[in-house]
Amino acid sequence: MGTRAELRAALAALPGSRALVMTMGALHDGHLSLVREARSRAEHVVVSIYVNPLQFGPGEDFEAYPRDVDADVALLAHEGVDLVFAPSDEEAYPAQPLVRVDPGPVAGVLEGRTRPGHFAGVLQIVAKVLNLVRPDVAVFGQKDAQQLALVRTLVRDLDLGVQIVGVPIRREEDGLAMSSRNAYLSPDERRRALALSRALAAGRDAAAAGGAVAEVRRVAEDVLGAAEGVRVDYLALVDPDTFLPLDERATGAGLLAVAAWVGTTRLIDNMTVDLQGPRP
Ligand code: AMP
Repeated sequence: MGTRAELRAALAALPGSRALVMTMGALHDGHLSLVREARSRAEHVVVSIYVNPLQFGPGEDFEAYPRDVDADVALLAHEGVDLVFAPSDEEAYPAQPLVRVDPGPVAGVLEGRTRPGHFAGVLQIVAKVLNLVRPDVAVFGQKDAQQLALVRTLVRDLDLGVQIVGVPIRREEDGLAMSSRNAYLSPDERRRALALSRALAAGRDAAAAGGAVAEVRRVAEDVLGAAEGVRVDYLALVDPDTFLPLDERATGAGLLAVAAWVGTTRLIDNMTVDLQGPRP
C-alpha cells in the first residue's frame, strides 16, 4: 500500500505490538534478517520501502538505485510480513519539509563527510515513518553503523518512545557485505570488492592478536592498498558511540569502518574490533 490513509486503516486493523523495518527496497537476505528479528520481537511486522530523495546528494545514484517493488512485496509476503508501506514522493512529503532534523556532530564525520546532508535526510524520513507507523520496536542493520547510532540518538533526544534494535551485518559466503548496490558490480568488480571485508577481517585479527590502534589500521590499509581497482574513501578505527578516532592507547571495542569505490560503485562495510591493550 502506498497512501497514508491506507496505512492508517491497515494499522487500525492490526491490534497488538508491531515492529518496523525501514528499507529502500531491492531486498536481499540482509534485509530479511532484519525482518526475522522484527518478527521475533512483536506480534506484527511492518516494512517500509522508499528511496528517500532527501538522503541522496547531487551526482549520487538516486535515479539509478535499483527498484523492484513487486519482487520485494513477494519476498516479504513469504516472510509473513503483515504490512508493506511503499509511499510515492507525494505521500512521503506532501509538503516540502521546512522543519528539519539536525543530526548533530556525528553526522559530520565518515559517511557524513563524504555525503553532506545525507544523515539529515535519513533522520527526516526515519522520524516521519516512525511517526506514521508508531511501532514498539524498529530494527536497523549494523551495516549502516553510523546511521544506527544516529537513529538511537534521534530517539533518545526527541523522546520518540520506540525501542531501536541493531542486527549484525549479513555477508555472502566469501565475506562481501550484502547490499542492494552490489547489483551494480560487474563480476570483476565483485571480486575486487572482497578487499573491503578482507581488510576489516585482517584488522580485526590484528587486534585479537594484541595489535594496538595504529597497527590495526596499518594492517587493514595494507590489504586495501594491495587491491587493484579499489579507491578508498576512508578507512577509520573509531569509537563505536562517538565515531571519533580512537586514541593510540585505546582498549576495548572499536569500530573499523571503510568506504571505497569499486569502479563507479561506492561500498561501505565495518567490523567491531576488540583492542586488547598492553599485556601485563
Ligand atoms: P537500505 O535498504 O540499504 O536502506 O537498508 C535498510 C536496512 O537494512 C538498514 O537498516 C540497513 O542497515 C539494513 N541492511 C542493509 N544491508 C544489510 C546487511 N548486509 N546486513 C544487515 N543489515 C543490512
